[in-house]
Amino acid sequence: MTQDDLKNKEMPQNYDFAEAEKKWQRYWEENDIYKFDPAGDGEIYSVDTPPPTVSGNMHLGHAFSYSQEDFVVRFQRMLGKRVFYPFGTDDNGLPTERLVEKLKKVKSTRMTRPEFVKLCHETITEIKPDFIQDWKDIGMSCDFKNTTYSTIDPHCIKTAQRSLLDLYKKGLIVRQAAPSMWCVNCQTAIAQAELEDADLNSTFNDVTFRIVESKEEITIATTRPELLAACVCVFVHPTDKRYHHLIGKTAMVPLFHQEVPIFADESADPEKGSGILMICSYGDRFDVDAINRKRLDPRVCITRQGLMNENAGKYEGMKIVDARKAILADLEDAGLLTSKKQITHVVNVHDKCGTAIEFLATEQWFIKILEHKQQLLESGNSINWYPKSMKARYDNWVQNLNWDWCISRQRHFGVPFPFWFSKKTGEVILADESQLPVDPISDIPKTLPDGHMIEDIEPENDVMDTWATSSVSPQITTNWVDNKENALSFKDMYPMTMRPQAHDIIRTWAFYTIVKGMYHHDMSPWKDIVISGHVLDPKGNKMSKSKGNAINPRSVLEKFGSDALRFWAAGSKLGDDLPFLEKDLVTGRKMVTKLWNA
Ligand SMILES: [Zn+2]
Repeated sequence: MTQDDLKNKEMPQNYDFAEAEKKWQRYWEENDIYKFDPAGDGEIYSVDTPPPTVSGNMHLGHAFSYSQEDFVVRFQRMLGKRVFYPFGTDDNGLPTERLVEKLKKVKSTRMTRPEFVKLCHETITEIKPDFIQDWKDIGMSCDFKNTTYSTIDPHCIKTAQRSLLDLYKKGLIVRQAAPSMWCVNCQTAIAQAELEDADLNSTFNDVTFRIVESKEEITIATTRPELLAACVCVFVHPTDKRYHHLIGKTAMVPLFHQEVPIFADESADPEKGSGILMICSYGDRFDVDAINRKRLDPRVCITRQGLMNENAGKYEGMKIVDARKAILADLEDAGLLTSKKQITHVVNVHDKCGTAIEFLATEQWFIKILEHKQQLLESGNSINWYPKSMKARYDNWVQNLNWDWCISRQRHFGVPFPFWFSKKTGEVILADESQLPVDPISDIPKTLPDGHMIEDIEPENDVMDTWATSSVSPQITTNWVDNKENALSFKDMYPMTMRPQAHDIIRTWAFYTIVKGMYHHDMSPWKDIVISGHVLDPKGNKMSKSKGNAINPRSVLEKFGSDALRFWAAGSKLGDDLPFLEKDLVTGRKMVTKLWNA
């Protein structure tokens, strides 16, 4: 038999990628090829794999960045290292709630929390196998069989709750009644990292105020006339000669008629508008700061639902935008609107829904980060960044933080706080570590404070921001809570070797994981962080569903196979964005055929 005969006998003439890929996937799983051996010898290479959000299908950006991390991992495995490569999914919080509402055609606000949570768990169980299959199909070499976690499973809840108990005992988490960022659409507090900039159309309006003492008229420019009802004082710059005589006098707010003090304050910019600034509770974080500095009583006029409240007088019950229109019309009728210019301006919106954020005084839990910026920068310095240039994004984010990390959410499907409150004294009652995971709504604390009966306590009803759980992904996978069914030992496995992720979540996932690593273990969570870029459309534009230029990786896999897709993903440097060009996939497929024929 000749060489050629042999080849023809054992190998089909043409490479059938669909059949070959299925065959090898099965082989990997059946033989536990990617299983980690905790008892083995040799250097450990552990990966803090990003848990994708179960909120639809894999997108091409995933296929790109996960392929790149898999190249690194397979290379390390070939060097003989013992690779620990777990896989998890992030499946609670707002994105999951939205998905369940859409798939099941329900509204979480019209259901009880237990009903909705049950439906969420059922829906996730239903859709998850299909969702994870996408990651298997791009050829990821994770240990899908033994190390799959979900951020809402008991092990993860236990880990996230232990994290909170530790932070509380160290004085690093506080509950504060303070104005914080609020989404009136999602009806929950949000964190600085969830803000996005959006260009919105608006009007810049010159409104007339009257000085009580002298009857003089002054002009104040504002984009938010509905907040006139919430105006508590007026600022002029101390060196602005035009208004020097106004300092110490009182202004009467048009339409609402409250009388407010006029202060000299450096924050009034003489170049902006008329140079006179109105301070409202609360237009933005500068208002929050100004009202705190001047120790004024806030006068809030917006509800958590985004409606005007009783402080808005006849506008009570109106939506914010409707009140804005009505107030402008009334100002105009009264001759108190001297100019109205159309503008487009940048507004902070909630990244999950695009709604302009408000500042409302509510009680929220905050993890302290502002007073530890230096420590967090140093922790960033101790990690190897690939590519190096990406570290600047981390540094900028830390340096420009303005708020502590708000982690409480007034939502349904999330990890509960392991806390109760005393109705008598208001004190916080902690769960005992031995009783985790705990749900304060259905469970009771192991020990009650002196003089307390069960009826004297009430649960914390809020749930945690999902980042509060995904930020302990290294602690989850390396068994920080010492789960006995898990053979891993935390002290052998932490810190991990490598964190792969995309650049858009440096300010969230990377940052928060570093925070937790520092606060819990005084250690950075990984040695290396590897950052991938984004996928662009053939013209170099960002891909998005709403623009209609997104490509489903499933269709690419069906047409070209996963090796061709990975060949394309290998075509850019780490951190660089990569346009999707079908010709690269064609080249990839030819390359595979060439290898087959060789
Ligand atoms: Zn929202």
